[in-house]
Amino acid sequence: MKTLKFPDGSEILYELTRKPVRNINLRVKEDGTLRISANNRVSVKRIEDFIISEQDFIRRAIERLNARSKEAEINSDRLRWLDREYPVRVIMSSRESAVLEQQEIRVFTRFPDPEHIRQLLRSFLSDSFTSLCRELNDEVRAALISRGLNPPPTLVTIKDMKSRWGSCTWTKGHISINSRLAAYPRETVLSVFWHEYAHYWHHDHSPRFYAFLEQHYPEYHKWNSLLK
Ligand SMILES: [Zn+2]
Repeated sequence: MKTLKFPDGSEILYELTRKPVRNINLRVKEDGTLRISANNRVSVKRIEDFIISEQDFIRRAIERLNARSKEAEINSDRLRWLDREYPVRVIMSSRESAVLEQQEIRVFTRFPDPEHIRQLLRSFLSDSFTSLCRELNDEVRAALISRGLNPPPTLVTIKDMKSRWGSCTWTKGHISINSRLAAYPRETVLSVFWHEYAHYWHHDHSPRFYAFLEQHYPEYHKWNSLLK
């Protein structure tokens, strides 16, 4: 473990592993330390400059780890959606809905009891995540098609899974996405879409699979590493 000082005076511990990888890969561990991998030709100076350039990303990843214990439960006074926590404001109204407006989640209801509010928040999350997934699915497909690759027709299902973030049944054209990704950055959800689509061409997690991902979504490791 080595200590690195950021220009603002704060410090971080990192561990460097030399591996035959093309880029400098950075991962924030559960305990808030960094794991870096890079090949032998990359100097320590370049690695440390890279870490410093990613300070903002690292800070947000650590904040996210701290918030992770809270992420599973739905609270009636704040809500985590796409890597941000929003205050919840309840507004008495004849409407029954929750919307994201002006950096807060506004719950319009005639029945302001906590369980009912949680129910409206759950619907908000599920609707918002469904439309995000539709958008990301279209984005990945359009990118593949523009690069001359032809993804098969795909049915995307969103579900709460215990041990995986996504899965691809390539024989059936079926991709599942874990609904818990709704608490992560958009780019991280996108990395899961890329991962599952890549399985159409590479059925395992071989170096060729990761090379495919790196080629099509160069920030794959950066954003997907938040899920490890
Ligand atoms: Zn996989």
